[in-house]
Amino acid sequence: MARLAPTRRDLLRGAAGAASLLAIRDRAPHRFPAGRYVDIHTHLGQRWGTLGALRAKELLEWMDAREIAQAVVLPLVSPEAWDIPLSTDFVLRETGPYRDRLIPFCSIDPRSIHLAGVEPKRALLERYVEAGAKGFGEHKPGVRIDHPGNVELFQACAELRLPMLLHLDRIRNIDEPGLPGLTRVLEAVPDGTFIAHAQGWWASISGAVTPEMMQTYPKEKVAPGGAIDTLLERFPNLYGDLSAGSGANAIARDPEFGRAFLIRRADQLLFGTDYLRPEQDVPQFELYRGLNLPQEARAKIFRGNARKLLGLE
Ligand SMILES: [Zn+2]
Repeated sequence: MARLAPTRRDLLRGAAGAASLLAIRDRAPHRFPAGRYVDIHTHLGQRWGTLGALRAKELLEWMDAREIAQAVVLPLVSPEAWDIPLSTDFVLRETGPYRDRLIPFCSIDPRSIHLAGVEPKRALLERYVEAGAKGFGEHKPGVRIDHPGNVELFQACAELRLPMLLHLDRIRNIDEPGLPGLTRVLEAVPDGTFIAHAQGWWASISGAVTPEMMQTYPKEKVAPGGAIDTLLERFPNLYGDLSAGSGANAIARDPEFGRAFLIRRADQLLFGTDYLRPEQDVPQFELYRGLNLPQEARAKIFRGNARKLLGLE
């Protein structure tokens, strides 16, 4: 029987083989490059910082080696967030030539007195959106999660349909065990899309959580009744960012619970690394290789959910 389409081997045979294969991939229905992962959480570094520079080209090479098709690049603007401010302007500039793969977010500190009220915050966010920003964060200011300036920002982001990536612990976006502050925010901004991250959020995978645990990496087995499950169930517009030591620890501390949690909440979880400096150790790859998740959960968590949220498909 005659074959209707050339096989991969046919295409690779001959001088133009590899080029033909690329041409076929380019005609595929999806605009985004092939790859196993979308990384919801990375940063670029400037040489002024104590950890030195991570330029866009180096980030892309690292992504290529790990089958990461696209990555969200997050500024850090609050004084509590990082050693130097990584401005939205810097992130927009660095990602400029690579917007098919590097997705810039923007950020504003809620205490900026020249941006009091929802209107001025929205006006600045609109300018960032015009310049290419696809989301808001990493939001990491030293205030309570339900600080009035935060709520104004979240309202402005909701109006502009910008997903918001929040770092929660005992110093930044502060909350209590049970996450009552985050619950108030979710009630106050029902149209927002929230992506929660860091120790304060991930310690809350367990029902047994103390204020101190919300700044650390608890090793105890997960107790049932964690605030995360309750909130994900109640708010379909809430997502968990699995990046960093906190995201890896939340799953690794109790792999049996962790695996069931990933499958149960596969529609609301996002793969991420928090890669921010060359040679950084990233635990997520080995962790997920060992979990043997069903194909459907992998496809959603590793790339599908992020692409939906960011409008990449
Ligand atoms: Zn980060």
